[in-house]
Parts: sequence; structure tokens; C-alpha cells
Amino acid sequence: MTDGRADAAVSGHDALRQRYARERGKRLRPDGNDQYTRLTGAFAAMLTDPYSERVEREPVRDHVTVAFVGGGFAGLVTAARLKQAGIRDVRIIEKAGGLGGTWYWNRYPGAQCDTAAMIYMPLLEETGYMPSELYAHAPEILGHCERIGRQYALHDHALFHTQVTGVDWDASRCLWVVRTDRGDQFTARYVGLGTGPLHVPKLPGIPGIGTFRGHAFHTSRWDYAYTGGDPAGAPMERLADKTVAVIGTGATAVQCVPHLAASARALYVFQRTPSSVDERGNRPMNPAWFSAVTATPGWQDRWLENFVANMSAGEWPADDLVHDGWTDLARRIRGRLSAPRSGPADFAELLADFENADFEKMSEIRARVDAVVADSTTAEHLKAWYRQLCKRPCFHDEYLDAYNLPNVHLVDTDGKGVAQVTPEGVVAGGLEYPVDCIVYASGFEVGTEPTRRAGFDMTGRDGVLLSEYWSGGMRSMHGVHVHGFPNAFFVQLGQGANFLPNVPHNLTDAAKSVAVVVSHMTRSGYNVVDLAREAEDAWIEQLQPNPVMTSFLADCTPGYYNNEGRDPGPNSVFGGYSKGPAAYFRYIEAWRRTGRFDGLVFSRTGSAAG
Ligand code: NDP
Repeated sequence: MTDGRADAAVSGHDALRQRYARERGKRLRPDGNDQYTRLTGAFAAMLTDPYSERVEREPVRDHVTVAFVGGGFAGLVTAARLKQAGIRDVRIIEKAGGLGGTWYWNRYPGAQCDTAAMIYMPLLEETGYMPSELYAHAPEILGHCERIGRQYALHDHALFHTQVTGVDWDASRCLWVVRTDRGDQFTARYVGLGTGPLHVPKLPGIPGIGTFRGHAFHTSRWDYAYTGGDPAGAPMERLADKTVAVIGTGATAVQCVPHLAASARALYVFQRTPSSVDERGNRPMNPAWFSAVTATPGWQDRWLENFVANMSAGEWPADDLVHDGWTDLARRIRGRLSAPRSGPADFAELLADFENADFEKMSEIRARVDAVVADSTTAEHLKAWYRQLCKRPCFHDEYLDAYNLPNVHLVDTDGKGVAQVTPEGVVAGGLEYPVDCIVYASGFEVGTEPTRRAGFDMTGRDGVLLSEYWSGGMRSMHGVHVHGFPNAFFVQLGQGANFLPNVPHNLTDAAKSVAVVVSHMTRSGYNVVDLAREAEDAWIEQLQPNPVMTSFLADCTPGYYNNEGRDPGPNSVFGGYSKGPAAYFRYIEAWRRTGRFDGLVFSRTGSAAG
């Protein structure tokens, strides 16, 4: 779709760069992340779990081998691997009413994962499950979380609707003491932390937001009692006589807007920055194809490796198994980099190739808006004027079409955002839009301190708080082990592969490390493992930020990828192994295979060994 109409007015790369810079300038704000409002105080009720009742229970006071905070993918895959390794008493502690993490909370209509199910859904091979579509919808992913829970008996010791309030190392017993908001106080030989990067909902800090007298909710707490319908996409019949506002046009809004458009009497979508919305091209899974592809054991690891190699500069295998929108951009960059040239490419040439591939891709995405959206003014406002990876790329086949419906109105704020919320509605561009309901598609906290997002602190050796230890930014080896926090494992993205296009890959890999280390300790009779400080220093030292990403993000439109357009700061979402994700996964596999676990120091109570 390169008819060029979309960019007719902005020809030439200099003009595009200027347009991108101008659009970025409109959105830069001095308050950065502080522009957002936490859901505390008067807003705390918006965090109530609408999906399951909190059941009263007695406080727990016992001991388990492993306590794992968080029942999302990190907890599920780590607990599953530990169970496979023979650890029977693994306790998941979860603030939600069940397993699933992101997929427990995000049940908004149309919720779906943009990463191919073959690589996104963990443990497909172990569970023998065939996804029903190339890109799975949320209910199916949540069902898969429950399947993993059942297969590995993860409900057995789990505590739901329970928030951890403190985790303290008891040096005399070499155990962790875990406390919760339900009065629990129990001990664990090991703790795992899988509290997730995007789970604390935030609201835009719009003046008057607390004065609205209509109904309001955040997309991660969808109120089906108010809207009607269900997570599978049944019509939301209770909106038939309602005027609804959606604030935000990120990946979540892109998915729920078509459903609101089909149900609401009138829908106003308030936009600060348009998303780039490429084709989705979803289709049902072909069982014959699936059987053939999965016939050879180890198929899911091969798919994971192939995807990461396609997405990693300089790797680029001959085949592209996933072949989706993510690998498309990588393929274009590769095509430019491998074009004949007189000598080796220097850094400036690499940046230019990256930029040219991006211009081409974004021109196609802008042209797609013209091709789909009938009203030319609306189409113009829906065009994203930044580079594709500045914000989370979106893929959807109905989002743009929704703006052709007579009841759907885009309110573009020219980068300024909503000006005010009043008791009756939403104000933007000097106009008040009276509405019955506001849906906040305003995202989640990113870039704030990890202990703030987790909701508790940890006390390690010698009374050192994790928040203090990480006050200058996260410190770890592999993103998993932290010096001074023995027998603790962090199952998350940062400082390992940091592979964003397929987040679960990071988690399933970290889970392998945890299970291998715990098995080694069980076999060898060790009861304490800590990370040597020098090993942590050495790991941090090599985590050079990727120079291409750094230079690229600095010029990006503000968003959580670049800390709202400010210095990345110590809690940046980026920062991983300097040789890239594919090299990281090879490195860590070799680290595990040696059985030496370099950097870790094992001991039996009181006596260092190994
Ligand atoms: P985002 O943080 O991506 O989007 C928040 C939206 O709210 C942005 O459009 C933002 O505008 C807008 N906003 C903030 N303040 C204001 C304001 N004052 N006035 C008007 N608009 C405002 O959150 P999402 O929930 O959409 O997505 C979060 C992440 O979750 C994604 O980035 C993705 O990683 C993941 N996700 C993945 C999905 C998938 O696989 N398809 C689906 C959904 C989510 P601005 O851009 O200007 O800041």
C-alpha cells in the first residue's frame, strides 16, 4: 500500500524529520511521568477486582520451599519449572483473584496479543495445547494460564487476593519471611519476584478528573455490569443509550474502540498521539499445519530462537517462521544493510539504513489510514508522525474502520491531551463533550521505582532495603540474581535479554535458570545462594545501552519507551545484554549448561562453598 498519498504533502526525508520533531515538540512536558495520577485515595475504588469475589480466610503461618510473588506468566512458568524439578510446595501469592497476571486483569472487549501465539503462549509443547488463532484473544490466553495452573497444581498453595507487604531475610534461619495484607506471615527457603512491568494502572492527571458524576473505569478493570457484553466480544447492549468517552489511543484503545463503536449510542475517542496501526491478518489455526510444525520435539524453543534471531541485528537466519509485522520491519532493515556498498558500513550508515526502512514502513502505515478512513480530516489526525518503534506498534484490522461509523467521533487534541474533566463530561479544544461514561485507556506505570510498582520492599542481608540498593537503578546479574538478596530470584525483563517484542521469552528463560539453580542446590545440599558483588559489577559494566536505540529514542515522541521524552533515567525499560537478545539467550544457555553457575556463591548454613 505505497501509493504515497499520505506523504504527498511531506516529501523528502528532511521534511519528514522536521515534521516528526515538530510533533514531538508539541508533546514534551516538563512534568514527564508526574503528569499521571495514581489510583489511590478517592480513585482506589477503581482498582477493585470486578472479576471475582474476595473470599475471607484465616491468615497463613507455615513454611514453603518457594514463595513466588505474582501469578502472571513469570510465576506460572517458574513454578511449573520448579514443579518439574521436583519442588512440590511452591506458593504463588497474587493480588488478583486468580492466575494470569496481565490476562487476569485485561479483559476489555477485543483484548488480544499482537505477538504470534506460537511464541507468545508459554509451555505450548508441555501442555500439548493448540492455539485457535495465529494471534490469540485474551480469554484463550487466560484459559491457557489456568491450564498451566491445573497441569502443575499451582493452585495448591496459592494465596489469591493477597498483596505482599514485606519480604525480609532472616539470616539466623537462612529463610525469607513473607508478610501480606491478609495477616499472613510465613517462611520460604526461596522467593521469586514476578511482579510484572505493566500492572499498576494510571490515570491522566487531568484537572477535574475527580469531579465527574457519570460512570468511569480503567480498561484493566472493565465494568461489564455497566456495559453489558463479555470478554469474548458479545455486544455491550447496556451502552445502546449511552454516550461514551475513551481517553487514550494506545494499544489497549486500538483493540477496545471497535467494540465500543459497535455498541455505544455515541463514542468520543480523545486522542493525544495516534498509534501506528498496521494490518493484523489474523486467521484460525490450521490443525494440519500445526500438527506438522509441532511434530518434532523442541519445536517451541526453535520458534522462539528463530523469532529472536530475526529480530536481532546481524543474526538473521535464512527462514522467518513467525513472519509478522515485527519481523517485517527487521527484514526491511536487513535488506538495506545487505545492499551492495563499496566498504563496510559505518555507524552513520547503519543509522541511515534504519531510518530509511522506518520512513518506508511508516509511509505505508499512513497511507493505510487514507485507504481506510473516509473522512479526510479524521484520516489526517489518525496518522502517526514518528518512527514506528517510538511507541508500541499496533496491528488491527477494524480500528481504523470504526471511524467510518456515524456514531464514532475522533477528538484530536493536537498533542495537548484532554484539558479538563467536568461533572458532565470531557473538555478538549475549548469544547465540552457531555458523556455518560469515561473509559480510561491511559495505560500503566512504567519507569517508576520497581519497589513502588511491586507495592512492597524487600530487606536483604544486613538489613539492606532493595529500594536503597537500587536507588541508583536496578543492579543484578542476568536480571535474575541480586547481590545481598540471597535465595531470591527476579523473573522479569531488564538486564537480561530485554527482548520486548516477545516478553514471555525473557520470563520462560529466567524460569529455566531458577529451576536449574534450585535443583543444583537441592542435589548438592546447599541452602543459601548469593551473587558475588564482583559478578554483579561485571554484569552491570557490560550492559552498555544499545547506541542505535539510545540515539533513536532520544528523538522519539514522548511515551513510556523513552521515559516521556526525558533522560532514560535509572528505571528505563531498555537495558539488556550488550550483544543483543539472541546472543544473550545463547550465553545464558551455556552458563546453565556448565553447572558451575559462575558468579553465584553457594553455601551450607554458615559455611561458604562453591
Ligand atoms: P499506553 O500507555 O500505551 O497508552 C495510554 C494512552 O493514554 C496514550 O494514547 C496516551 O497518549 C493517552 N493519554 C495519556 N494522558 C492523556 C491525556 N491527558 N489526554 C489524552 N490522552 C492521554 O497504554 P495501553 O494500555 O494502551 O498499553 C500499554 C501497553 O500494554 C502497550 O504499550 C503494550 O505494551 C501492552 N499492550 C499490548 C497489547 C497487544 O499485544 N496488542 C494490547 C494492549 C496493551 P500519548 O501517547 O500521547 O502519551
